[in-house]
Amino acid sequence: MKLYVATSNPGKLRDFAMAAQDTSVDIEPLPKLSEIPAPPENETTFAGNALAKAAYYSGFAPGELVVADDSGLEVDALGGEPGVRSARYAADAGFAGDERHSIDQRNNAYLLRELQAVPPGQRSARYRCALVAARDGVCLYTGEGSVEGKILTEPRGEGGFGYDPLFYLSEFGKTMAEIDLATKHGISHRGRALRDLLNKMKRGSNDQHQCD
Ligand code: IMP
Repeated sequence: MKLYVATSNPGKLRDFAMAAQDTSVDIEPLPKLSEIPAPPENETTFAGNALAKAAYYSGFAPGELVVADDSGLEVDALGGEPGVRSARYAADAGFAGDERHSIDQRNNAYLLRELQAVPPGQRSARYRCALVAARDGVCLYTGEGSVEGKILTEPRGEGGFGYDPLFYLSEFGKTMAEIDLATKHGISHRGRALRDLLNKMKRGSNDQHQCD
């Protein structure tokens, strides 16, 4: 069975493909995604954004199951922020930071500033991913996954993207930017969300109540 994923991000596609590798599901990027104008992502929850995106993108592949995702970082000491604003955290707050730095570096710098007064024992956080599979604009299945960690006081490691250099995994003694790819795939919030969605599909448990 084929599942189109509405992303052209190679890292995300790899996460999803790894999670589906022992199943009969083929993960493929939605054809011609680069030609489709991106819809707004202005819902207040990951699930809400994933639902809006799946309904929208499935309109471009009639009769096919199309999966869309939304993900981000939740920091407990910040009441769950940056959450759905993870990609634009610093910019939304008007934090310019160092203009030579990338968006990810500025987001990390802003996060560190916000957590300046928060002691090590209170820096718990998680990456969260919500997935929705839709066909012809109708939401059919949902999936959710998360990975727990804590936010360091300075970045460590060169791998990954986003908040990975600050996201510390106690069980491995490393940040997400320091662990090897195989380990990362094993614990990925995206992988967990896809396995959750595939399990529901296998059971035929239509998630209609979560689709509303
Ligand atoms: P997206 O909407 O799924 O593309 O993710 C939004 C933002 O969440 C990204 O721009 C990153 O800042 C953050 N994020 C999501 N997943 C990860 C991850 O696996 N590592 C690091 N940052 C992530």
